[in-house]
Amino acid sequence: MIMSEQNVSPYRGRFAPTPSGPLHFGSLTTAIGSYLQAKSQNGQWQIRVDDLDPPRVVKGASDTILKCLEIYGLYWDGPVLYQSSRHDAYQAALDELNKIDMIYPCACSRKDIKDSLAADTRTSLIYPGTCRNGLKQGQQAETWRVKTDNSIIEFEDLFLGTSSQHVQKEVGDFLVKRVGDYYAYHLAVVVDDAYQGYTEIIRGYDLLESTHRQIFLQKLLNITPPAYGHLPLVLNNQGKKMSKQNLNEKSIIDCDPVPTLCAALQVLGQQLPDGILESDIDSFWEWAITNWRAEDVPASTPAVYPFDL
Ligand code: GLU
Repeated sequence: MIMSEQNVSPYRGRFAPTPSGPLHFGSLTTAIGSYLQAKSQNGQWQIRVDDLDPPRVVKGASDTILKCLEIYGLYWDGPVLYQSSRHDAYQAALDELNKIDMIYPCACSRKDIKDSLAADTRTSLIYPGTCRNGLKQGQQAETWRVKTDNSIIEFEDLFLGTSSQHVQKEVGDFLVKRVGDYYAYHLAVVVDDAYQGYTEIIRGYDLLESTHRQIFLQKLLNITPPAYGHLPLVLNNQGKKMSKQNLNEKSIIDCDPVPTLCAALQVLGQQLPDGILESDIDSFWEWAITNWRAEDVPASTPAVYPFDL
């Protein structure tokens, strides 16, 4: 079928798992929230594999994650983008920031930063700007940092309302290149989200405080920020955020898809109709896409993993 121009939605969203282990119920819930937000608007939904950080990448995990998404009926549009293939783009962004004199090399270790902070602020590790005016003679740059300024970064979160942060006071000059020559997460995400033209980023609540830094970088790189929405987290039985690296976290690859999808929709505040548990996966998705209500997603309330799954 040839789509008329009116049928082509400008919405572009994504799910960007780090392949540090198999998908658990928490990351599945995030995938579903971003998928439904895109598909309910007839938009594109893509996958980016955040395999930026070799020590965190578990062999085979990205294939397992993709297979699991397919089992759950979460089919993506277009090719999967791997961050490991994007180093030239990250370096080009660093070069651009260097050209406008907004980054600087830093020789401080975590211990140096801790030692230089007042005793009562040592837990927060806000970088005090030690290397901003140049390295001391004989010092070697370990990392690169961006120069923050006195502005307050504010955005409207789809689920949480206004969120603001004084990046300089609350975070300090943050890393764009890390020890070991690794590009930092914030830089890579900003470069890739712009490259793929996402109009809205739906992701977990744990990344809310990262968003201001990403908007700060977007401004420096002349990138128009997408819209953002941060979904409730799912906690494990110790009250902690579920993590792919935690081997005790149950992989959902062997769970029965429809009941697991229904449980995730409940975390996302959706009212399920009677009988949906007995439906097949295609009918489930048909119902979920038609009836998705972003306005019912609870604001940040963490949900506990439904242990009967
Ligand atoms: N890769 C990140 C994670 O798995 C998510 C990045 C993002 O959505 O911006 O937690």
